[in-house]
Amino acid sequence: MNLPPRPGVFMPSGGRPEPVTAGPHKALFLDRDGVINVDRGYVHTAGQTQWMPGIFELCGAARDAGYALIVVTNQAGIARGYYTEAQFEDYTRWLHGQFAERGVPLLATYYCPHHPVAGTGAYHVQCDCRKPRPGMLLAAAKDFDLPLGECVLIGDMPSDLQAAVAAGVGTARLLGDLPPHPADLFAGLAPPDNPAP
Ligand SMILES: [Mg+2]
Ligand SMILES: [Zn+2]
Repeated sequence: MNLPPRPGVFMPSGGRPEPVTAGPHKALFLDRDGVINVDRGYVHTAGQTQWMPGIFELCGAARDAGYALIVVTNQAGIARGYYTEAQFEDYTRWLHGQFAERGVPLLATYYCPHHPVAGTGAYHVQCDCRKPRPGMLLAAAKDFDLPLGECVLIGDMPSDLQAAVAAGVGTARLLGDLPPHPADLFAGLAPPDNPAP
């Protein structure tokens, strides 16, 4: 039996995902390189990490509007052998810690370690998780029982938006197209307090 390749997932708790029942029941999906950190190509150490301006404020606005924070990132550097999944997970643990320290904890990071052309070994595969395909978003929705139509994705590449559309994510934006005050994006999506009759 040939199982389809699955995205990797890092959750701070480790092990099985806990469904988002008590907390937010929708998510802000964030691309990583070019959204969270400056995209210098295959970033995988703390020393290479430079935060994108305003990222923690953006995450705080999403948190305040009731969105859980989930990272979805293509990691062809694993497929290419530039770093291992274990190194990536160590770095991701550090990155989650940085967000937690700032009061905007990340729920999970989904990553695609594959590449259809440049991958080595088992990573050399056409998968459904490498954006623009929707596999990471669909896996997160399944793990956390998320209504994708109420979720938001922020990326920096057309492939991020294509993945969102393919998965049925309700709102997808490029980072450069956000309103000057990120809270305005989420406020505009909230249902009105007094819906018109
Ligand atoms: Mg990116
Ligand atoms: Zn993949």
